[in-house]
Amino acid sequence: MTQNVAKLIFWGVRGSTPTLERETWRYGGNTPCIELTAPGGVRFILDCGTGLRMLGNKWSPPDGDASFEAHILVTHYHWDHIQGIPFFHPFYQSHNHFHFYSFQSKPLGPDSLRQVFEQQLASPYFPVDASTMTAARSFREVAGGENWEIQGTQISAAWVNHPQGCLGYRLDTAAGSIVYATDNEPGVAEFDRSLRQFAHGADVLIYDAQYSPEQLASTRKGWGHSSWLEGVKIARDSKVKNLLLFHHDPESSDKTVDGFLSAARKEFAGTWAATEGMSITLSERGVDVAMGESRVGQRRRLRFVATVSGQSEGGEKFEEKAIVRDLSLQGAYLVLNSRPRLQSELRVVIEASGDQNRSSVLSLRGTVVHCEPGREKNQNGVGVFFIEEADPGLPRD
Ligand SMILES: [Zn+2]
Ligand SMILES: [Zn+2]
Repeated sequence: MTQNVAKLIFWGVRGSTPTLERETWRYGGNTPCIELTAPGGVRFILDCGTGLRMLGNKWSPPDGDASFEAHILVTHYHWDHIQGIPFFHPFYQSHNHFHFYSFQSKPLGPDSLRQVFEQQLASPYFPVDASTMTAARSFREVAGGENWEIQGTQISAAWVNHPQGCLGYRLDTAAGSIVYATDNEPGVAEFDRSLRQFAHGADVLIYDAQYSPEQLASTRKGWGHSSWLEGVKIARDSKVKNLLLFHHDPESSDKTVDGFLSAARKEFAGTWAATEGMSITLSERGVDVAMGESRVGQRRRLRFVATVSGQSEGGEKFEEKAIVRDLSLQGAYLVLNSRPRLQSELRVVIEASGDQNRSSVLSLRGTVVHCEPGREKNQNGVGVFFIEEADPGLPRD
């Protein structure tokens, strides 16, 4: 990484508890974990939710021998922010070194973070104890109002309004500034004011947008969270450049989060909804947002004509004729005379009518997931889930 680039990657964006329901797949179900590579290559991890496991897999395979060092900033000790700790395999490799930062919790007393870390692996909650984690680790207790520097990145911590306490972190790097303020409930003047000062002028503000403004005003008042509308107000008041809606409620479907995002964008154009796999690059060219690969596998080349309409980056509407060059496929529903056996394999070949071009042929292998008598006599309705067969000729996205 060059001297003047910082990169954030979201490994977990869900609040409270992981989700596996299909309706939450697009934004993702892992709890908070963000990777930051600061200019010069210094590594940071913001929170240790279940997304941490996948970050570990990216950094090194379980039997890998590459060693590295990272600084881990933990906002607070609620489950969703620490649950990934036992599953981050770089902790089990003696050649790695980790520096942890968080606050002293009142019930736990001195050495809170070390205790939390070890209790995660205590009997009877985990099969092996913390002595199996051989990576070097050091713990530093910090409090709201503190500032310190790590290899050219200035870190500040601020208290936010959350049951049992929570810290927000600001990281000012040579490439831009990031404010991570999750698990915050607005409505206490002192905290509302200090958060606005803390976030002032940030290139990226990652903010708790768990509930709708209506829930926040009624059934979820006092739960310690916030809404997209509060995020928009802070972003505006603090002249933030990009607002990331974060800590999505486990009960929020992708469609619900889409609704929060589009409502927020009407009020503050620089809003994004944090998504697992999303990355944000900060450099002298500004802030560049990219999504993780979403259509790996199950993609087939073809040439179908389509009319496409939408909205450009600048906000204008457009409509144009285009060629669909590939599709990603999950499955199909077929009507057959035959009655295939459940969980057996099928081959489905689809041809574009009147087109001899081979690239318009889709040949797919699938497994039968559903079979019942169709409406017509001697016909069966058959559900097929396509089995992944990678097409190496496709560009990645
Ligand atoms: Zn949380
Ligand atoms: Zn919390």
